[in-house]
Amino acid sequence: MKCKKCSDVAIIHLRQHNASYCSKHFVDYFERRVENTINEYSMFGKNSRVLVAVSGGKDSMTLWYVLTKLGYKADGLIIDVGTTNIQLDSLSEFAKKMGSQLKFVDIKEFFEGLTVPQIARLLKRPTCSICGSVRRYLMNKIALENGYDVLVTGHNLDDEVSFLLGNLLSWNTGYLQRQAPFMPKTHQKLVAKAKPLVWLTEKEIYTYALLNNIPFQDEKCPFSKDASSLRYKSVLNNLEVSQPGTKLRFYKQFQRSQLFKNDNVELKECCLCGYPTTSEKCSFCRMRERVKDALGKQKD
Ligand code: AMP
Ligand code: ZN
Ligand code: ZN
Repeated sequence: MKCKKCSDVAIIHLRQHNASYCSKHFVDYFERRVENTINEYSMFGKNSRVLVAVSGGKDSMTLWYVLTKLGYKADGLIIDVGTTNIQLDSLSEFAKKMGSQLKFVDIKEFFEGLTVPQIARLLKRPTCSICGSVRRYLMNKIALENGYDVLVTGHNLDDEVSFLLGNLLSWNTGYLQRQAPFMPKTHQKLVAKAKPLVWLTEKEIYTYALLNNIPFQDEKCPFSKDASSLRYKSVLNNLEVSQPGTKLRFYKQFQRSQLFKNDNVELKECCLCGYPTTSEKCSFCRMRERVKDALGKQKD
């Protein structure tokens, strides 16, 4: 296998593009692809203040690294939800090397000292839904309060197509509409959101991370990645083997479909915190109240 660009020995073959690359040209290809994704969806520019939501895993760490390398101003934000061991020292060192800042938030500060799994148990609700809703709220709040223009996450092509397939199977059109690679600012208290890695697969991101010695944690959240999303990924991987390019086609064609049209729901401001919500009180504030009530009842 030879590199498409220089005829050196290739280290990776990308069947979806019918191309092989040596390490240098794979790195070039990867960075160009991230830049093209950012430009294609007009996500942000070189002067924008970008906040990367960092979990410590390969996707978000790679995203943070590549944005900085491409000359974007990108700081990191990690939210400790209490499900994995966050290695704050190594994350801070990584931030320092890149000349970026790292912000850290512990959800215990907002929920009477409880972690997400403890809240889930107390309120008898699924851990992942609590985690997702708490993270979304805090990411937006912190980005906004610190003057960032856009919040970016490390979602990759495999994440996006598996989510797409799952929601198509149940015709969950509401979720599908919100699956855009870029969500512009639609409310003064909502920051724009972008996913610059949506045109890259897990394999490509993993390879780039290894080639660039990007530190990342392999530890998976013990609660997440429910069986169904892993099953969808496996089905899509099988399809990709027999029909290379399926994932990219599925993802890009979805964006040309009618399903993708965004219906603007009317937003009010939460009567307690002022952040946007579709009801009187936002789900974050309601959750805080329920936690207080439940703890009060335990004491009685
Ligand atoms: P997940 O929902 O775990 O698949 O994560 C999707 C994306 O959300 C990651 O690529 C990160 O950008 C971001 N993310 C996940 N967990 C955290 C966290 N604890 N703190 C900040 N960002 C996170
Ligand atoms: Zn080459
Ligand atoms: Zn609220």
